[in-house]
This record gives sequence, C-alpha cells and structure tokens, in this order.
Amino acid sequence: MSAPITQDVLTLPRKLPESDRINLVGLTRAQLREVLIEGGTPERQANMRVGQIWQWIYQKGVRDFEAMTNLSKAYRTELAERYEIALPEVVTRQVSADGTRKYLVRIAGGHEVETVYIPEEGRGTLCISSQVGCTLTCSFCHTGTQKLVRNLTAGEIVGQVMLARDDLGEWPEPGRAPKDETRLLSNVVLMGMGEPLYNFDAVRDAMQIVMDGEGISLSRRRITLSTSGVVPEIARTAEEIGCLLAVSFHATTDEVRDTLVPINKKWPIAKLLDELRAYPKLSNSERITFEYVMLKGVNDSDADARRLVKLIQGIPAKINLIPFNEWPGAPYQRSDRARIQSFADIVYKAGYASPIRTPRGEDIMAACGQLKSATERARKSRTQIATEAGLGG
Ligand code: SAH
Ligand code: SF4
Repeated sequence: MSAPITQDVLTLPRKLPESDRINLVGLTRAQLREVLIEGGTPERQANMRVGQIWQWIYQKGVRDFEAMTNLSKAYRTELAERYEIALPEVVTRQVSADGTRKYLVRIAGGHEVETVYIPEEGRGTLCISSQVGCTLTCSFCHTGTQKLVRNLTAGEIVGQVMLARDDLGEWPEPGRAPKDETRLLSNVVLMGMGEPLYNFDAVRDAMQIVMDGEGISLSRRRITLSTSGVVPEIARTAEEIGCLLAVSFHATTDEVRDTLVPINKKWPIAKLLDELRAYPKLSNSERITFEYVMLKGVNDSDADARRLVKLIQGIPAKINLIPFNEWPGAPYQRSDRARIQSFADIVYKAGYASPIRTPRGEDIMAACGQLKSATERARKSRTQIATEAGLGG
C-alpha cells in the first residue's frame, strides 16, 4: 500500500549523514527560508513553513521534528533527514547558595564559554558570552588574560538563552506565553566573555531571534549589550539591534582609562562620549548604563566621582558601580565599602542613579569579569577554585 501523497512530500536529494545536517538554531528568518528552499521545500510554501518551524523551535522549545504536529508526517521525516535543532552542550552546572546558576557550555571545536543566570526580585537575568576569550586586554578582567579563540555563532549565542530556559523549565504551555514580569528568564545581558561589538553580526542575529515576537519574545528593553567602547559599532547597535547599551567606562581620565581599558587608546573618552550622546535618540531608549569597576586607589576617589558626573553631563545615564571581582593573580583590589559609598553619594547627588552592584554567585566565581574559558581551569578541582576565590576556608 502506498502512503497518501500530501503537499509536503518532497523530492529531496538524499538523506544527509548526521554530521552534515544543518543546524536551524541561530538562522534568521530569511536564512531559514533559504535553507528550507535549498533542501526542497517549495518556494510558495516557504514562508508558511518558516513561521511554523520558528514557533516550534523558539516558542515551544521543541527539538525534535517529529513533535511538529502541524506538519505532515512525510515533511517531518524529510526535515529530520536534512536538519537538526541543536544547542551547545552544558558540561557543568553549578548553583550558588544565592541561587545564581553558572553553566559551563561546550561549543563546536571543544571550546568552552560560561553563561550565568542571576535570579532577582521580580526578574531573572541571563548573562551570556559572545566570544571565547577576547581580543582586548582590559587589565582588571579575567577574560582579558585569555586570547581570543573564536567568535560564537548566532546559534551558539541564542543557544545559551535556550539552554537556560531548558534548565529553568520555562517553555510556555501552548498559547500561554509568560508575561515579562513573571518570567524566570526576563532579561539578557551581553556581559559574559568577549566583546559583543567585535562579533556584531552574530550578536545582532541572535538578539533579533531573542526579540522575535513569535518566539522567545523578549522586549528590546530587556536586553543590555555591554561594550568596552567600540566606537564605530555603537550607532549600528542602535539601528540594527535597538537594545539598551552599557559601556565599560571605568575611569575619568584618558591616562587611567588607557591602562584599564586599552581600547581607549584607539577611541579615547571624548570620542566615546560623542558617540554615546547620540545613542538614546537613535535607539529610542531611555538611558545608558555606565559601568564603573571600583578598584582600590586606582579610580575610586571623590575627585574621580566628580569628574565622572561632569563628563557625562547631558547624557541620560545610570551609573552602575561594580565592586571589583577579584580573581587569582589579579593586579587590583576591591575598593572598601565606605569608599564605594562615598563615590556613589557624589554621583547620586548629581542626579544619577548609582546602584552598587551586589556581587552574586561569588562561591562559584560567577561574577562579571571572572568568567574565563574553563579549558585552562578545568584541570583544577572545584575546591581549588573556591579556595582561590577566598571561600575555601
Ligand atoms: N566586553 C564587554 C562585555 C563583557 S565584560 C565589556 O567590556 O563591556 C562585562 C562587564 O564586566 C564590563 O563592564 C567589564 O568591564 C566588567 N568586568 C570585567 N572584569 C571585571 C572584574 N574583575 N570585576 C568587575 N567587573 C569586571
Ligand atoms: Fe574583553 Fe570586556 Fe574583558 Fe575588556 S572587560 S577584556 S572588553 S571581556
């Protein structure tokens, strides 16, 4: 008996071996369409198929073509023979006493990056990586001690969001997309390993997917991209992503910023500020976050605080004070609490919100700037890492 012929039966060239299957995760809608057509999906059906498959992958979290029940059985089989829906692999998952979760994620080629989930009152933030290592060498940053190994693909970037949702069990029941306020994973920050603006296209494509209303559907205002100050890419970020921007400012004179954030030698403070002034309007967003790491005796004086508020005058801003997260062998120390408070008071009195970031996940070294490829650290035991972080007793 022959199978009933449906519209979906395709004349596909051949079944691809597993390793040659194209991963659909991370493709833009346009790319997905192209890939489907190349694989034999009739052009006139392609838009509809993109919409259907997209919803299965990004709205429902489905990984198996068999489960895509609004596609014919024959079409599902064809899809499974040519494509896959694959995420990077979670190698380890550590949960801190404060609920912070750190995932060590293995990507193609055996490289590893870290992704951190930080639950807070009324929201949950996922800190994702955009590169393995970093080309930049900020002197206070652990990632900066590691050379760039490679850029992440869009699939590996959006994959971090998907694997965290897997772990949190947050794929909605059909037809019941969670409201932003009640989501476990409600915000994304590009503050993990790497400089996102040196991997612009992949970051943009991944964020477009995360924001897509028929998928994960996070608002662009719940995504914050942090840059060390890659000036030529800032306007593009406004135009092509439109998310919130954070900038690793960290110093109030070029002399000091040159040593902390060496990209400053290329695009010094004045140039950076010019670019930042244009951002809120271009991206139609409220304010820029100025990240400022508090390093004892380096950038934490009252005079620094006063210079800072003067420099950013006229820019809608919030100043996020980050107590330095120490890492083994770091050449700096964290400023004292009283010093940070005094700095914060000056900034606050000048009219800017000046939250002091609470260190989270310290027992698992999950804080910003401590993230580093584990290829190097994997040899050490957890106890060793905890001891080095000053928590091992
Ligand atoms: N490359 C981007 C994003 C990743 S770093 C950038 O530099 O902005 C995310 C934030 O963590 C940046 O503000 C960075 O300056 C900060 N950071 C890096 N190392 C740190 C450390 N050891 N302690 C505190 N903050 C750190
Ligand atoms: Fe790279 Fe950002 Fe670290 Fe600087 S602070 S080395 S830009 S990850």
